Order: sequence, then C-alpha cells, then structure tokens
Amino acid sequence: MGKGHGCARKSGDLTVLSETDTGILALAVELNAAVMTDDFAVQNTAQRLEIPVIPILQRRAKKRTWKYRCTGCGRFWSAPGECQICGAEILRAKSGKKY
Ligand SMILES: [Zn+2]
Repeated sequence: MGKGHGCARKSGDLTVLSETDTGILALAVELNAAVMTDDFAVQNTAQRLEIPVIPILQRRAKKRTWKYRCTGCGRFWSAPGECQICGAEILRAKSGKKY
C-alpha cells in the first residue's frame, strides 16, 4: 500500500502546482511581487501566502468597453437603438469612469 505518497497528499493544492508554478510563487515571495495568473490553484496558494494575484482573464475583461447604455433599464449594449429588454432608447455612454 503506497504509504510513500502520504506526504504529497497532505499539501493539498501543492500537488496540483507544477514546478514552474511553485517557482513563480517562490519568486513572488522573494521579490514581494504580484503573480499574474489565471490558474486557480496558483491563485489559491498565492492568496494563502499573501501574494497579490493579478488574474489575466479579468484584465482582458476590463478591455471590453460597452459604449452604449439603455436610458431605461441601464443595461449596456454594444450598439445604439432600442433596448431589447425594456424598449427604451439606447444612447452612447460616457466612458469617463476609470476602474
Ligand atoms: Zn432597457
């Protein structure tokens, strides 16, 4: 019965991480830097080690700008016209907000 594997199983997430991942995390700790990753296991481990995580997917999502907004329900649309939800007019939204 493989008792030799008991050690690896105890570490939980660490078994999921590749050598590259653990290397990145170790470096982040050393340099006090943030880790940029979409890997959930890496994100989890980083959070446990109090390393700031920058999700790549979320950064991409921020690039998606909705230019038009319904004056009725406030939904965002990619084109002007009539809102398909409430029928109100969709006008160009001001993109001055920085998030
Ligand atoms: Zn609407």
